[in-house]
Amino acid sequence: MRLVLLGVPGSGKGYQAKLLSERLKIPWISTGDILREEVKKNSGLGKKVEDFMNKGDLVPDHIILEVMKGKIGAPECENGFILDGFPRTLDQAKDLEKLLEDMGEKLDNVVKLDVSEKTIIHRLSGRMICSVCAAAYNINTKPPKAKGKCDLCGGELTSRIDDQKNSIQNRIKIYNEKTKPIEEYYRQMGQLKVVDGENDPASVRDKILKEIQKR
Ligand code: AMP
Repeated sequence: MRLVLLGVPGSGKGYQAKLLSERLKIPWISTGDILREEVKKNSGLGKKVEDFMNKGDLVPDHIILEVMKGKIGAPECENGFILDGFPRTLDQAKDLEKLLEDMGEKLDNVVKLDVSEKTIIHRLSGRMICSVCAAAYNINTKPPKAKGKCDLCGGELTSRIDDQKNSIQNRIKIYNEKTKPIEEYYRQMGQLKVVDGENDPASVRDKILKEIQKR
């Protein structure tokens, strides 16, 4: 199963990718997580992308493509993958198609999670991440047992710099300008499936599974 998850930041695609990855036993590739790890390590790649990420701007396509070439071509992706946060521009979508074509493969499904802007802002403004194990929390919807501490490892919870109000609005604007055209691209190819992402995570996951197993 080669699956792309689309949705505005905060639509829950990261969490759904994790749930689907466990269920379908295929890797979940999050470009945001990969880049944040590079920034944390202060690597050459991390230094190149940090500014774009903090502002909520997109990292240039050629940098993302290099990262993704290595990931998608890796042996662990032989039986499929779930992409979370890629493609994010029409050029990236076309690059992905070409990349898969060169490997004799193609995408099986593209799922867009549909969530209202009000829900997005509510979710993102409360989002907290463990600085040690990266477990995700939300002060509005999934608070930790002890304030500021991870339930799993006791690590300190922090919020993402790009979850501050200005960056959230910028990320939603960028999604509408740069990423939304991809939905039309996949719709025209008959690959786009839209799933309501407002409900609890397990029922959203089950709706996605139903959609992708339809054909
Ligand atoms: P995410 O965790 O998916 O919200 O991504 C966090 C940030 O990483 C984005 O706001 C971008 O700055 C950068 N990023 C992640 N994926 C991409 C991509 N496919 N193209 C460009 N920038 C990306």
